[in-house]
Amino acid sequence: MINSVLEITERSCCGCGSCFQSCPKHCITMQENERGFLLPEVDESLCVNCGLCVRSCPEIEQPKPYSVKKAYAAVARNMPMLKKSTSGGIFGVMSLAVLNQGGVVYGCAWGDNFKAEHIRITAADDLYLIQQSKYLQSDTANTFVQVKNDLLNNIMVLYSGTACQIAGLRKFLKQEYDNLLTVEVACHGVPSPGLFRKYIDWIEKNTGKKVSDYQFRNKEKHKKGEHYKYCVTFADESKKYGFSKEDAYYGSFLEGRTLRCTCYNCKYKNNERIADIMLSDYWGIEREHKDFPAQNGASAVVLCSDAAIDLFSSIKDSLIFKDSSFEQITKHNHSLVQSSLVDENLRIKTINIDSNDLFTSLKPKFDIKVRVKNLVPEKLKYFMKTLR
Ligand SMILES: Cc1cc2nc3c(=O)[nH]c(=O)nc-3n(C[C@H](O)[C@H](O)[C@H](O)COP(=O)(O)OP(=O)(O)OC[C@H]3O[C@@H](n4cnc5c(N)ncnc54)[C@H](O)[C@@H]3O)c2cc1C
Repeated sequence: MINSVLEITERSCCGCGSCFQSCPKHCITMQENERGFLLPEVDESLCVNCGLCVRSCPEIEQPKPYSVKKAYAAVARNMPMLKKSTSGGIFGVMSLAVLNQGGVVYGCAWGDNFKAEHIRITAADDLYLIQQSKYLQSDTANTFVQVKNDLLNNIMVLYSGTACQIAGLRKFLKQEYDNLLTVEVACHGVPSPGLFRKYIDWIEKNTGKKVSDYQFRNKEKHKKGEHYKYCVTFADESKKYGFSKEDAYYGSFLEGRTLRCTCYNCKYKNNERIADIMLSDYWGIEREHKDFPAQNGASAVVLCSDAAIDLFSSIKDSLIFKDSSFEQITKHNHSLVQSSLVDENLRIKTINIDSNDLFTSLKPKFDIKVRVKNLVPEKLKYFMKTLR
């Protein structure tokens, strides 16, 4: 039993920032460890041992989960919205509905130096900032405090994040609010912000060009059935595309080798959910819902509260959707119910983000199967998947 955040290590801390934001004495700061992950650090000279940090920690005790009420396969009708999103664009459509009612939306944006951080938006014009998955751990900064202020001012709030971040927010708030809707983005684990920063430095060193934008899933160049392509944009406006599985950072993330320690024992992998809404990719849609238009991605949408069902009803005209079930979804997407199973020996346990050969050691081995798969015509791949 942990009695103080002083006893916290990367094995017992998911990095949600709930303790840091709960501290009435502001004696906790979030500091990067040698693997580049944020962990709480306490200034003991200011600490009064009130215990609020421990009571706010979702790793010590999890908030009560919600049961699944409804599940759908869905995709946004609005093509620019869909193309800008990682998956089926449902997060964007839900956000617009909340913003149009005078509400606010919280999500993950790029900050300075490619730091992923949570921000609050109040206008549709800023939605693009928090669309798209950034595959590294985001800093929730002081957004839980901002959410509480919004809730007490009767503002409608939509807060999106990974399951542990939603759990952290709920532990911070300590009570349910009618004007709060939470969105869990499915997550098989997060690499560290420090590692991603080093990766951008490495690209800049190798190309001699400054990186101005990074997109994990670029849909403009992506062909259906193909492995995802990332897109690096440089300051001179040139672009570099590459296959996710062949990239040192992206490939090792997909293989689950560089995740935070707690991700290998995630407390939120089960048949219940921690948020009102869960959004994920709908893997295997061609088998569960034949003919569903998934050329530009499709989402699984899982609704776990009456408020979530009301929000989904209000956006139905903006979506193409089909009734589905949690069982159908998890049949092809094990990461919703099971932590990454990567063997301890394969995990880059001792990543020293200052090591010179870091990205050489992360580079996935040349995979002939991936190369061959990318040469097979898309229509043939799709046909073969429907046969399985
Ligand atoms: C680290 C990570 C791992 C993921 N792993 C899986 C997986 O294994 N299987 C799967 O089916 N789906 C996974 N996803 C979710 C998936 O990529 C989409 O985010 C989700 O389906 C929503 O897509 P969308 O098109 O509706 O929204 P989009 O427009 O793509 O919106 C992205 C949403 O994700 C949030 N977000 C982006 N980056 C982060 C971050 N670093 N931390 C917290 N929130 C973030 C934004 O706030 C926004 O709500 C992962 C997402 C992340 C961030």
